[in-house]
Amino acid sequence: MTTQYKKPIPVPQGESDVYWQKAKQGELWLRKCDDCGKAYFYPRDISPCCFSKKTSWIKASGKATLHTFAIVHRAPIAAFAEDAPFVTAIVELEEGPMMPTHIVEISGGGEPTPEKLSIGMSLEVVFEDITDTIALPKFKPV
Ligand SMILES: [Zn+2]
Repeated sequence: MTTQYKKPIPVPQGESDVYWQKAKQGELWLRKCDDCGKAYFYPRDISPCCFSKKTSWIKASGKATLHTFAIVHRAPIAAFAEDAPFVTAIVELEEGPMMPTHIVEISGGGEPTPEKLSIGMSLEVVFEDITDTIALPKFKPV
């Protein structure tokens, strides 16, 4: 099953190993700057807020709101063609960071339409297992 996954697969690196390990366990983890207290995404050793090297990992609540979205009808590459139409989005995590993701399990079923989504709507993280080691965080309306 997992060997049939044809889309590009994230490659964990030193700075993101924990992120992917936790995602596989169904948890969303973020890096936080210990100097100014801001959480940030994507995970990296030096904070983007004040370039501090004093950072730590925190477990996110998994709650977010919809910041913006686009419904993709024509896949950017062939590997995504059978998913179209699908919803790409930027969500604002409860801890503050913005995160690019997909919106899934949209109420009403059928194809996604703008009427089924609204800016500011409440979302929660769900994970799609794609390989033996990778699960992708996506968000669904609550
Ligand atoms: Zn900072």
